[in-house]
Amino acid sequence: MSYITEVFEYLNRTSPHQTEFYQAAEEVLESLKPLIDKYPKYAKHKIIERIVEPERQIMFRVNWVDDQGEIHVNKGYRIEFNSALGPYKGGLRFHPSVNAGVIKFLGFEQIFKNALTGLAIGGGKGGSDFNPKGKSDTEIMRFCQAFMSELFRHIGATTDVPAGDIGVGGREIGYLFGMYKKLANSYEGVLTGKSLLWGGSLARTEATGYGAVYFAKYMLEDRNETLEGKRCVVSGSGNVAIYTIEKLYHLGALPITCSDSNGMILDEDGIDLALLKELKEVKRARLSEYLQSRPNAKYIPVSEYPQGKNAVWSVPCFAAFPSATQNELNLEDAKTLLANGCICVSEGANMPSTADAVHEFVKSKICYGPGKAANAGGVATSQLEMAQNASMQSWNFEKVDAKLADIMKHIYISASTTAAEFGEPTNLVLGANIAGFRKVADAMIEQGLV
Ligand code: NDP
Repeated sequence: MSYITEVFEYLNRTSPHQTEFYQAAEEVLESLKPLIDKYPKYAKHKIIERIVEPERQIMFRVNWVDDQGEIHVNKGYRIEFNSALGPYKGGLRFHPSVNAGVIKFLGFEQIFKNALTGLAIGGGKGGSDFNPKGKSDTEIMRFCQAFMSELFRHIGATTDVPAGDIGVGGREIGYLFGMYKKLANSYEGVLTGKSLLWGGSLARTEATGYGAVYFAKYMLEDRNETLEGKRCVVSGSGNVAIYTIEKLYHLGALPITCSDSNGMILDEDGIDLALLKELKEVKRARLSEYLQSRPNAKYIPVSEYPQGKNAVWSVPCFAAFPSATQNELNLEDAKTLLANGCICVSEGANMPSTADAVHEFVKSKICYGPGKAANAGGVATSQLEMAQNASMQSWNFEKVDAKLADIMKHIYISASTTAAEFGEPTNLVLGANIAGFRKVADAMIEQGLV
């Protein structure tokens, strides 16, 4: 049995039922085989065994009271996975599907993503199974305060700096920050994604979506292609999807879809971005309401999706931007995209493609940007927010956006040159995993057995 297979078997035995974590770990470990074979130092220092084990996992109870006075109890998580390159950094997700395995997969991915940015940030992630949908503003505030009443003792500007993720945007970061400040009696850059009024960075809101489109642009440039005038499909309608659509318009592309967990919109004239922002950022409405203002668009509810498929990926397109959630694009969807002529997939979400869909994309040699490379613009800009907080500066939008574009280019070059070094120039899964791992692993060796 190979060294990597042994570690994988160990994980299955010791962390039962963490399916998303196995999926993420298997993809990374598979990619590392050529590196581990070439450089015995990683096996000697037991880096694989060490890197799959979080440095610290915190689980806690979150009690809160709703507007009717009823008590609720949720689970809270923070996983501090790896600090070889800097303070733990990664978002908080509030969604009913959150469990220990989901947070562990997200934290594991975050280690390599953060390393790829070239910035000084370690990997972490957290969240809760709390469902923000349908909650009043005061309920959201009380939940955030209850969550922070435990989390505050574990985080800090130089130890662990959380940000947003699904269900956690500017409003939630505000309530979380307010409670941290009160409990810690310290005004510090302990969270990113803050409001511009009190320490946030311009372009942080836009960064993940913009970054995923920049990544697509760089992949395509290498093949003498551009996004200009091209039909693009996007899933999701949250932070990442909205700013993916915005940047696609900046580059002259035509984004024609978006979705939420109830259904999808197909608007052949191009998604009405101002309307989408109004619905999702202001009204917090469901996507079906889009039709009231755009009667020529089509709404397809999930109940009418083709059996076993996500209807977004059945729309013929040049490029696809999965920007909702994990495993939202399966093998059948991947085959449909390819059969319809899609030549570029840039993942704004974390692990949106199932393992066999990833293999299909890699095998097809299209431009395929895996999430940990393509969506790293969000965390990279969070680090720029930390840098501004630490130096008491605030940079203008153009400066942050230019840095973001540079970072995305650096990530693309790093993943593609590493892929070429290991004999598979178009395989950015291999390239991103090895490039990210190598940085963290070498730092771990230099810092000794801690
Ligand atoms: P938001 O909460 O802003 O939006 C999430 C979107 O995805 C919503 O449209 C939501 O629909 C949809 N969605 C969520 N879960 C499901 C599901 N199970 N099935 C179908 N649709 C679903 O989150 P973000 O835009 O911030 O995050 C989207 C993805 O991007 C996640 O994978 C996240 O981890 C990743 N990401 C985010 C970063 C960031 O900076 N925000 C950074 C890097 C990655 P509905 O409203 O119906 O739930």
